[in-house]
Amino acid sequence: MAMQRTPLLMSRLIDRGAELAPNVEIVTATASGTRRHTYAESRNRAHQLAHALADAGVGIGDRVGTFMWNGSRHLEAYHAVAGMGAVLHTLNIRLSAHDLEYIINHAEDKVIIADADALPLLEAIAGRIPSVQKVVVAVEDGFEDWHTTVAPAEDYEAFIAGKPTRYEWPAIAETAPLGLCYTSGTTGRPKGVEYEHRSQYLHTMAICMTDSMGLSATDAVCGIVPMFHVMGWGMPWAGLMLGCKQVMPHRFMDPARILRLMADEGVTLSAGVPTIWQGVKAAYEANPSGYDLSQLSRLTCGGAAPPPSLIRWYWDALGVEMIQGWGMTETSPLATLSRRVMQRAHIDLSPDEQSANVAKAGQVMPGLELGIFDDDFNRLPHDGEAVGEILVRGPWICAEYYQNPQPDSFHDDWLITGDVGKIDADGYVIISDRSKDLVKSGGEWISSVDLENHIVALPGVAQACVVAQPHPRWGERPVALVILDDGADVPEARILEHCATAFAKWQLPDDVLHVKDIPLTSTGKMDKKTVRAGLAAEGYKLPSLR
Ligand code: AMP
Repeated sequence: MAMQRTPLLMSRLIDRGAELAPNVEIVTATASGTRRHTYAESRNRAHQLAHALADAGVGIGDRVGTFMWNGSRHLEAYHAVAGMGAVLHTLNIRLSAHDLEYIINHAEDKVIIADADALPLLEAIAGRIPSVQKVVVAVEDGFEDWHTTVAPAEDYEAFIAGKPTRYEWPAIAETAPLGLCYTSGTTGRPKGVEYEHRSQYLHTMAICMTDSMGLSATDAVCGIVPMFHVMGWGMPWAGLMLGCKQVMPHRFMDPARILRLMADEGVTLSAGVPTIWQGVKAAYEANPSGYDLSQLSRLTCGGAAPPPSLIRWYWDALGVEMIQGWGMTETSPLATLSRRVMQRAHIDLSPDEQSANVAKAGQVMPGLELGIFDDDFNRLPHDGEAVGEILVRGPWICAEYYQNPQPDSFHDDWLITGDVGKIDADGYVIISDRSKDLVKSGGEWISSVDLENHIVALPGVAQACVVAQPHPRWGERPVALVILDDGADVPEARILEHCATAFAKWQLPDDVLHVKDIPLTSTGKMDKKTVRAGLAAEGYKLPSLR
């Protein structure tokens, strides 16, 4: 009889840290300081949560939503849901009620585990998410008086209390889903990306490699990137597998508080978007003797390109290596990573040259294939000159969207990323532009097409064009150009008020400019490249547009 291959299940990894490092701590920031659990406690609690979820009717393949900050209970949810073979659907706390309602209904979440402070956002869609049978509420100091009418609700601690501390993780197929995360599309509603056990297992191994993030059991890791973004970039899984100390900021995202937490807990590696590291730099410079960051050695930065000056500052001022990562919700997320030195030939490069390496998006992760292609999907050379659309494929790259076919997003078995760039002779990917019509502000997406469609629905508006403009704090912010019907008078305030009915406050355009015409491409589409460049160059004062 042929030997059965061992399936690559996350249940083989998630208890390992607790077995090898039972006394290592998982630390969560709270209003008054920190809450601390050991890995042994955390594992027991995760297994109890699995029992409680099973008792509440959650079976293999059922979706469990989380509506939570980074904290120990969110980690327990990762652990429990993956172990029991259910699907962890991480809900983005920053979405509009409109998108949240769509996503929960599309995924048919059965149970939602929510932080008490986030409940008002869920309450806004009460009565409109019929699949949700139960809400489990994680209560932090100051939120004891929580209230929800979304579904029958129970306090998290009461929910898990008294349950057995061992759950027999089921044997399921390695291709079974374990996670679900929705991403903003250029048009239409958010699209779900489903992660398999096999893909996350391999991704977890890959991110730990020395030439990746070089994660070790000796690390104290602090994920600033929300755990509702692409499985927290894989750090929760890596931590559970290795038994690293894990430090979690919960809702306390103020840069000075993040710095205090990292210093007090001896964090060695952290991960977040450039906006976070800009803020942390400013907070450090405001009080340079206030924080002992001597333990910190690496900062993984992705979601947008970190400015070279920022990379340089962390190295020069703190001796901290920034590691740039490029990826997407669809790529689990890490597809390329860049370190100062990750090739033998680079050992003797000057410090400037090594910093320049990190300013590139990086080398493709082992196991993935990545290329640049022209409009007819012909491969372009990796010569540092040719610029093309980036396509990627491999075991942790999504091949379809969850119950939402999108043939235009794939070519054969390649994912069309919507990013444009070149690849140099050393194999480093350099992102130069984006073909997808989206704005990324502080690591979160805003769909320009959705904003445009919404704005033109307003009586008196003839045409709208929303483009990204560079912003020193947020990376990009949306600006809307609007052409009004002849004789119409629709002031900026009215347009913003109208947008606020469907979009979150941070998604509203920073500026609404009334213009006479909008440049078009040869095929008659709005020429956003020209608009973007023109606005940036002219500081919004394009005479041809005014
Ligand atoms: P998300 O699906 O929200 O993780 O966003 C993925 C997108 O963010 C990519 O397709 C890029 O457009 C952008 N992005 C991610 N990492 C980088 C990076 N290192 N440099 C430039 N853009 C990035």
